[in-house]
Amino acid sequence: MANAYKRILLKVSGEALSGDQSFGIQPEFLAGVAEQIAEVARSGVQVAIVTGGGNIFRGMAVAANGGDRVTADMMGTLGTVINALALSGALVTRGIKSKVFSATTMPSVADTYTARAAKAALEDGYVVVLGGGIGNPFFTTDTAAALRAIELECDIVLKGTNVDGVYSADPKKDPKATRYEQISHEDVISQNLRVMDTAAFALARDNNMPIIVYSLDDKEGLSGVLAGRVRSTRVGNPRK
Ligand code: UDP
Repeated sequence: MANAYKRILLKVSGEALSGDQSFGIQPEFLAGVAEQIAEVARSGVQVAIVTGGGNIFRGMAVAANGGDRVTADMMGTLGTVINALALSGALVTRGIKSKVFSATTMPSVADTYTARAAKAALEDGYVVVLGGGIGNPFFTTDTAAALRAIELECDIVLKGTNVDGVYSADPKKDPKATRYEQISHEDVISQNLRVMDTAAFALARDNNMPIIVYSLDDKEGLSGVLAGRVRSTRVGNPRK
Protein backbone atom coordinates (compact mmCIF):
# COMPACT_ATOMS: atom_id res chain seq x y z
CA MET A 1 0.00 0.00 0.00
CA ALA A 2 1.33 3.40 -0.94
CA ASN A 3 1.62 5.63 2.11
CA ALA A 4 0.36 8.86 0.61
CA TYR A 5 -0.44 10.08 4.10
CA LYS A 6 1.90 10.33 7.06
CA ARG A 7 -0.68 11.02 9.79
CA ILE A 8 -4.44 10.54 9.54
CA LEU A 9 -7.44 11.24 11.74
CA LEU A 10 -10.13 8.62 11.53
CA LYS A 11 -13.60 9.27 12.87
CA VAL A 12 -15.19 6.03 14.08
CA SER A 13 -18.86 6.65 14.71
CA GLY A 14 -20.90 4.67 17.19
CA GLU A 15 -22.81 2.99 14.38
CA ALA A 16 -19.57 1.55 12.94
CA LEU A 17 -19.25 -0.43 16.19
CA SER A 18 -22.89 -1.34 16.76
CA GLY A 19 -23.39 -2.79 13.26
CA ASP A 20 -26.97 -3.88 12.71
CA GLN A 21 -27.83 -3.43 16.39
CA SER A 22 -29.20 -0.09 17.48
CA PHE A 23 -27.30 -0.18 20.76
CA GLY A 24 -23.93 -1.19 22.09
CA ILE A 25 -20.87 -2.82 20.59
CA GLN A 26 -21.06 -5.89 18.37
CA PRO A 27 -17.81 -7.86 18.71
CA GLU A 28 -17.57 -8.71 14.98
CA PHE A 29 -17.91 -5.06 14.00
CA LEU A 30 -15.38 -3.97 16.60
CA ALA A 31 -12.99 -6.63 15.29
CA GLY A 32 -13.57 -5.56 11.68
CA VAL A 33 -12.82 -1.90 12.41
CA ALA A 34 -9.76 -2.84 14.49
CA GLU A 35 -8.38 -5.07 11.69
CA GLN A 36 -8.66 -2.27 9.17
CA ILE A 37 -6.90 0.18 11.48
CA ALA A 38 -4.22 -2.38 12.38
CA GLU A 39 -3.42 -2.94 8.69
CA VAL A 40 -2.94 0.79 8.11
CA ALA A 41 -0.90 1.25 11.31
CA ARG A 42 1.39 -1.66 10.35
CA SER A 43 2.09 0.04 7.03
CA GLY A 44 3.66 2.93 8.95
CA VAL A 45 0.86 5.51 8.83
CA GLN A 46 0.37 7.37 12.13
CA VAL A 47 -3.27 6.96 13.16
CA ALA A 48 -5.34 9.13 15.49
CA ILE A 49 -8.95 8.12 16.06
CA VAL A 50 -11.91 10.04 17.43
CA THR A 51 -14.69 7.78 18.64
CA GLY A 52 -18.37 8.66 18.52
CA GLY A 53 -20.89 7.46 21.04
CA GLY A 54 -24.24 7.34 19.27
CA ASN A 55 -24.39 3.56 19.80
CA ILE A 56 -24.56 4.20 23.55
CA PHE A 57 -26.10 7.58 24.18
CA ARG A 58 -26.88 10.82 22.38
CA GLY A 59 -27.43 13.91 24.49
CA MET A 60 -29.98 15.33 22.09
CA ALA A 61 -32.29 12.39 22.71
CA VAL A 62 -32.75 13.45 26.33
CA ALA A 63 -32.84 17.15 25.53
CA ALA A 64 -35.62 16.51 23.00
CA ASN A 65 -37.73 15.14 25.85
CA GLY A 66 -37.16 18.18 28.04
CA GLY A 67 -34.14 16.86 29.95
CA ASP A 68 -31.06 18.87 30.79
CA ARG A 69 -28.83 18.99 27.73
CA VAL A 70 -25.59 19.60 29.61
CA THR A 71 -26.03 16.51 31.78
CA ALA A 72 -27.26 14.49 28.82
CA ASP A 73 -24.21 15.45 26.77
CA MET A 74 -21.96 14.36 29.64
CA MET A 75 -23.64 10.98 29.43
CA GLY A 76 -23.04 10.94 25.67
CA THR A 77 -19.42 11.84 26.25
CA LEU A 78 -18.97 8.88 28.59
CA GLY A 79 -20.23 6.64 25.78
CA THR A 80 -17.45 7.91 23.50
CA VAL A 81 -14.89 6.95 26.15
CA ILE A 82 -16.36 3.44 26.42
CA ASN A 83 -15.96 3.07 22.64
CA ALA A 84 -12.41 4.43 22.80
CA LEU A 85 -11.46 1.86 25.44
CA ALA A 86 -13.05 -0.94 23.40
CA LEU A 87 -11.30 0.04 20.18
CA SER A 88 -7.92 0.61 21.79
CA GLY A 89 -8.19 -2.75 23.55
CA ALA A 90 -9.03 -4.47 20.26
CA LEU A 91 -5.92 -2.91 18.69
CA VAL A 92 -3.67 -3.99 21.56
CA THR A 93 -5.04 -7.53 21.20
CA ARG A 94 -3.80 -7.40 17.61
CA GLY A 95 -0.29 -6.41 18.65
CA ILE A 96 -0.72 -2.71 17.88
CA LYS A 97 0.54 -0.16 20.41
CA SER A 98 -2.39 2.03 21.39
CA LYS A 99 -3.25 4.63 24.03
CA VAL A 100 -6.56 6.19 25.01
CA PHE A 101 -6.78 9.90 25.73
CA SER A 102 -9.89 11.47 27.20
CA ALA A 103 -10.85 15.12 26.79
CA THR A 104 -12.64 14.87 30.13
CA THR A 105 -10.36 14.19 33.08
CA MET A 106 -10.70 10.62 34.34
CA PRO A 107 -7.16 9.61 35.29
CA SER A 108 -7.93 6.09 36.41
CA VAL A 109 -9.49 5.35 33.01
CA ALA A 110 -7.41 7.20 30.42
CA ASP A 111 -4.65 9.76 29.96
CA THR A 112 -5.99 13.29 29.86
CA TYR A 113 -5.84 14.67 26.34
CA THR A 114 -3.32 17.31 25.46
CA ALA A 115 -2.19 17.85 21.90
CA ARG A 116 1.41 17.62 23.10
CA ALA A 117 0.98 14.21 24.72
CA ALA A 118 -1.09 12.81 21.86
CA LYS A 119 1.46 13.98 19.29
CA ALA A 120 4.32 12.45 21.26
CA ALA A 121 2.43 9.14 21.38
CA LEU A 122 1.81 9.25 17.63
CA GLU A 123 5.49 9.88 17.01
CA ASP A 124 6.29 6.89 19.26
CA GLY A 125 4.15 4.67 17.03
CA TYR A 126 1.02 4.47 19.17
CA VAL A 127 -2.42 4.54 17.61
CA VAL A 128 -4.06 7.21 19.75
CA VAL A 129 -7.75 6.83 20.45
CA LEU A 130 -9.39 10.06 21.54
CA GLY A 131 -12.54 9.76 23.64
CA GLY A 132 -14.67 12.43 25.24
CA GLY A 133 -15.27 14.53 22.12
CA ILE A 134 -13.92 18.02 22.59
CA GLY A 135 -14.89 17.84 26.27
CA ASN A 136 -17.83 20.25 26.06
CA PRO A 137 -21.58 19.81 25.70
CA PHE A 138 -23.40 21.04 22.57
CA PHE A 139 -20.73 19.57 20.30
CA THR A 140 -20.47 16.33 18.39
CA THR A 141 -17.58 14.02 17.77
CA ASP A 142 -17.51 15.14 14.11
CA THR A 143 -16.39 18.54 15.34
CA ALA A 144 -13.93 16.80 17.66
CA ALA A 145 -12.53 14.93 14.64
CA ALA A 146 -11.96 18.14 12.70
CA LEU A 147 -10.46 19.91 15.73
CA ARG A 148 -8.09 17.11 16.71
CA ALA A 149 -6.94 16.65 13.11
CA ILE A 150 -5.98 20.33 13.02
CA GLU A 151 -4.33 20.29 16.46
CA LEU A 152 -2.38 17.11 15.74
CA GLU A 153 -1.36 18.29 12.27
CA CYS A 154 -2.92 15.34 10.49
CA ASP A 155 -2.92 15.26 6.69
CA ILE A 156 -6.56 14.30 6.37
CA VAL A 157 -9.81 13.45 8.18
CA LEU A 158 -11.47 10.19 7.17
CA LYS A 159 -15.18 10.00 7.78
CA GLY A 160 -16.80 6.64 7.12
CA THR A 161 -20.59 6.75 6.75
CA ASN A 162 -23.38 4.68 5.24
CA VAL A 163 -23.05 6.31 1.79
CA ASP A 164 -20.03 6.41 -0.52
CA GLY A 165 -19.49 10.15 -0.45
CA VAL A 166 -21.18 13.52 -0.54
CA TYR A 167 -24.21 13.70 -2.85
CA SER A 168 -26.13 16.62 -4.33
CA ALA A 169 -29.18 15.36 -2.36
CA ASP A 170 -29.93 12.39 -0.12
CA PRO A 171 -29.26 9.39 -2.44
CA LYS A 172 -31.59 7.21 -0.36
CA LYS A 173 -34.49 9.56 -1.11
CA ASP A 174 -33.65 11.19 -4.45
CA PRO A 175 -32.73 8.89 -7.39
CA LYS A 176 -31.32 11.88 -9.31
CA ALA A 177 -28.77 12.65 -6.59
CA THR A 178 -25.20 12.66 -7.92
CA ARG A 179 -21.99 12.03 -6.01
CA TYR A 180 -19.23 14.63 -5.96
CA GLU A 181 -15.71 13.39 -6.56
CA GLN A 182 -14.42 16.59 -4.98
CA ILE A 183 -16.22 19.57 -3.44
CA SER A 184 -15.13 22.59 -1.39
CA HIS A 185 -15.95 22.94 2.30
CA GLU A 186 -17.77 26.15 1.41
CA ASP A 187 -20.07 24.39 -1.08
CA VAL A 188 -20.89 21.64 1.43
CA ILE A 189 -21.88 24.30 3.96
CA SER A 190 -23.77 26.61 1.59
CA GLN A 191 -25.68 23.73 -0.02
CA ASN A 192 -26.38 22.25 3.40
CA LEU A 193 -25.12 18.80 2.36
CA ARG A 194 -25.24 17.05 5.69
CA VAL A 195 -22.59 14.40 6.13
CA MET A 196 -20.87 15.92 9.12
CA ASP A 197 -22.20 18.82 11.11
CA THR A 198 -21.65 22.37 9.95
CA ALA A 199 -19.33 23.24 12.83
CA ALA A 200 -16.98 20.46 11.72
CA PHE A 201 -16.94 21.62 8.09
CA ALA A 202 -16.51 25.28 9.09
CA LEU A 203 -13.53 24.44 11.31
CA ALA A 204 -12.01 22.29 8.58
CA ARG A 205 -12.57 25.03 6.00
CA ASP A 206 -10.98 27.74 8.14
CA ASN A 207 -7.92 25.59 8.72
CA ASN A 208 -7.65 24.04 5.28
CA MET A 209 -8.15 20.48 6.52
CA PRO A 210 -9.35 18.07 3.80
CA ILE A 211 -11.93 15.39 4.59
CA ILE A 212 -12.59 12.14 2.73
CA VAL A 213 -16.14 10.80 3.03
CA TYR A 214 -16.48 7.09 2.16
CA SER A 215 -18.72 4.13 2.81
CA LEU A 216 -17.99 1.90 5.78
CA ASP A 217 -19.44 -0.99 3.72
CA ASP A 218 -16.75 -0.80 1.04
CA LYS A 219 -14.85 -4.11 0.98
CA GLU A 220 -11.54 -2.35 0.27
CA GLY A 221 -11.68 -0.84 3.75
CA LEU A 222 -9.50 1.90 5.16
CA SER A 223 -6.31 0.93 3.33
CA GLY A 224 -8.26 1.06 0.06
CA VAL A 225 -9.52 4.51 0.91
CA LEU A 226 -6.00 5.75 1.65
CA ALA A 227 -4.72 4.25 -1.60
CA GLY A 228 -7.49 6.00 -3.55
CA ARG A 229 -9.14 2.74 -4.66
CA VAL A 230 -12.51 3.45 -3.06
CA ARG A 231 -15.40 5.54 -4.35
CA SER A 232 -15.50 8.57 -2.08
CA THR A 233 -15.67 12.35 -1.99
CA ARG A 234 -12.78 14.62 -1.14
CA VAL A 235 -13.96 17.76 0.64
CA GLY A 236 -11.36 20.50 0.27
CA ASN A 237 -8.87 21.47 -2.37
CA PRO A 238 -8.18 18.90 -5.11
CA ARG A 239 -5.14 16.78 -4.33
CA LYS A 240 -1.87 18.11 -5.72
N1 UDP B 1 -20.73 14.81 22.95
C1 UDP B 1 -20.55 16.02 23.61
N2 UDP B 1 -19.44 16.80 23.27
C2 UDP B 1 -18.56 16.43 22.31
C3 UDP B 1 -18.78 15.21 21.62
C4 UDP B 1 -19.87 14.41 21.96
O1 UDP B 1 -21.33 16.40 24.46
O2 UDP B 1 -17.59 17.17 22.06
C5 UDP B 1 -21.87 13.93 23.35
C6 UDP B 1 -23.20 14.31 22.71
O3 UDP B 1 -24.22 14.07 23.64
C7 UDP B 1 -23.29 13.32 21.56
C8 UDP B 1 -22.67 12.08 22.16
O4 UDP B 1 -21.61 12.59 22.96
O5 UDP B 1 -24.64 13.08 21.16
C9 UDP B 1 -22.16 11.06 21.18
O6 UDP B 1 -21.38 11.67 20.16
P1 UDP B 1 -21.84 11.68 18.62
O7 UDP B 1 -23.32 11.95 18.53
O8 UDP B 1 -20.96 12.63 17.89
O9 UDP B 1 -21.53 10.18 18.20
P2 UDP B 1 -21.64 9.44 16.77
O10 UDP B 1 -22.87 9.98 16.06
O11 UDP B 1 -20.42 9.77 15.99
O12 UDP B 1 -21.72 8.00 17.10
